[in-house]
Amino acid sequence: MGEQIPRIRHLVLVPLPYQGHINPMLQLGTALHSKGFSITVAHTIYNSPNPQNHPHFSFLPMPDGLSDSDLASGDLVSNIQVINENCKESLRRSLEQLMQEKELQGDTISCIISDELMFFAEDVANNLKLLSIILRTTSAATSFARCGLLKLGGEGQVSLQGSSSHDLVPQLHPLRFKDLPFSLTASFGKFAVLMEKAYSNRTSSAIIWNTIKCLEQSTLEKIQQQSQVPIFPIGPIHMIAPPVSSNLIKEDRSCISWLDKQPHNSVIFVSSLGSIASLSEKEVAEIASGLANSKLPFLWVIRPGSIRGSDWIELLPKDFHDAAGDKGCIVRWAPQREVLAHPAVGGFWSHCGWNSTLESIAEGVPMICKPCFGDQRVNVRYVSHVWRVGLELEELKREEIERAVRRLILHDEGKEMRDRATKLKKKFEICTREDGSSNYSLNELVNFIMSYDS
Ligand code: UDP
Repeated sequence: MGEQIPRIRHLVLVPLPYQGHINPMLQLGTALHSKGFSITVAHTIYNSPNPQNHPHFSFLPMPDGLSDSDLASGDLVSNIQVINENCKESLRRSLEQLMQEKELQGDTISCIISDELMFFAEDVANNLKLLSIILRTTSAATSFARCGLLKLGGEGQVSLQGSSSHDLVPQLHPLRFKDLPFSLTASFGKFAVLMEKAYSNRTSSAIIWNTIKCLEQSTLEKIQQQSQVPIFPIGPIHMIAPPVSSNLIKEDRSCISWLDKQPHNSVIFVSSLGSIASLSEKEVAEIASGLANSKLPFLWVIRPGSIRGSDWIELLPKDFHDAAGDKGCIVRWAPQREVLAHPAVGGFWSHCGWNSTLESIAEGVPMICKPCFGDQRVNVRYVSHVWRVGLELEELKREEIERAVRRLILHDEGKEMRDRATKLKKKFEICTREDGSSNYSLNELVNFIMSYDS
């Protein structure tokens, strides 16, 4: 009898089309590709990834039905619903065809891995009798908080549009009411519907999590106790996957040569919005003055369109460039992980999206935290209060900003945060080594997928 040719095992990835979700999903694809799987990315037309960055992957576009006015509304919750309503049929048809093609080649589709908010993909997997796995791209603490928030909402214990109260939330310590992960644009009812879908009655067979045991072990244990399916914490995925860029905006690498000219630990890297949030002209003026008055070097990411009413930096105060002199460098989009790894960077002012939080800790960089909405609030509380590697900026006021930057970069308090961040960085390195917990979970995930397929 001739030797059997091993089948190629094929995975279909379905990311949510926002940068903070696309990055970990494509990093996961890269990690699994290095384990021998072939990868197809089923993506919306909106924010579609650049295939040239991922020459080993195949791509399946899905018409998402998002109109210009949907996109202009900035209403994430509604847009996620639109995507879920419109992509299902197209994914089902494309996968049926792909399954036939693979069968002819003697290969199989092993599994669909979908973002926790791309519910339709789970339905399609059930329909086609394929293994389905969820990728959660937020912290475990955020999941816990969202479930807690739903419960409090059901009991009428939270005001519907969020709260600024500093009181601790019963059952959710160390979170205060102001740290709960409310949506910025949606009503509580609409947000609750989306969260119910994300956390109840899921039919997937496992959960992959972009988090790391050394940071979130106790929360992960609580969640695993309540979960019917195995959880694989394999984060930070960018540390276990071969390097890959999935940025939707072109990175401006000129900031690296600017950083090369700055003293060690002297620069505050300001990327305070991530890929979604925006600022008013007044808020930008406060940031600009605070940075200039700190008299410290800064690298500031201003995403095109993130200052409301302008294309880019037209609305910065007229005297800003004189006030900042050669202390400042502004870019549209930075190679963030490379910037955080640069020795000149002494601190990171972040909105604390989960990827940014992990990336900052992974490089031992302490943070100034100012959340915009949702899970960022939970992350800020953990960064500043539990892991104590950052300080929270309460208000977007120039004096407060100037003080926070100087505290982080120059004062002992900042140095202590940097020392704690460096200790966590070392723990991250241990967990993501070949024999570390994240890589162990990745190997368990691979075995799990293979066991369904043999
Ligand atoms: N990012 C980047 N360059 C920038 C700003 C952000 O590469 O100038 C990347 C960052 O490294 C992170 C992602 O964009 O991986 C943002 O994800 P995060 O979860 O931090 O925030 P979100 O955009 O989802 O609010």
